[in-house]
Amino acid sequence: MNIIPAKATQKGPENMFTGDVYFDEIAKGAEPSRVRVNSVHFTPGARTAWHSHAVGQTLHVTEGIGLVQARGGEVKVIRPGDTIYTPAGEWHWHGAAPDHFMTHLAIWEAPESGAESDWGDLVTDEEYNRS
Ligand code: MN
Repeated sequence: MNIIPAKATQKGPENMFTGDVYFDEIAKGAEPSRVRVNSVHFTPGARTAWHSHAVGQTLHVTEGIGLVQARGGEVKVIRPGDTIYTPAGEWHWHGAAPDHFMTHLAIWEAPESGAESDWGDLVTDEEYNRS
């Protein structure tokens, strides 16, 4: 058994996030586990860029009010207690509502080989404001 001390909070990089986003790494599975769990804190209006996950991703909202959109779908409001599943390879973004913080757990697995996620363009204000 390992007790892993809390790691420093990290700032989301500007090529992957719009606005101020901070995350805490909660779990990174030791082989053969490939699970990853982060707690991600979005300030009002902040959001991820468009991206997809090789093995899909589960989000669980713990605080605030947020927004999520799959490519080609509507922008949807997400609230504490909601769980969102994005299947492998589905392009999407997630973030805070314009006037609320939002925190979610992000749970995903690394693939056996290759990138965990593919990152694309930032979500424009026009795309974000369709909510
Ligand atoms: Mn995602």
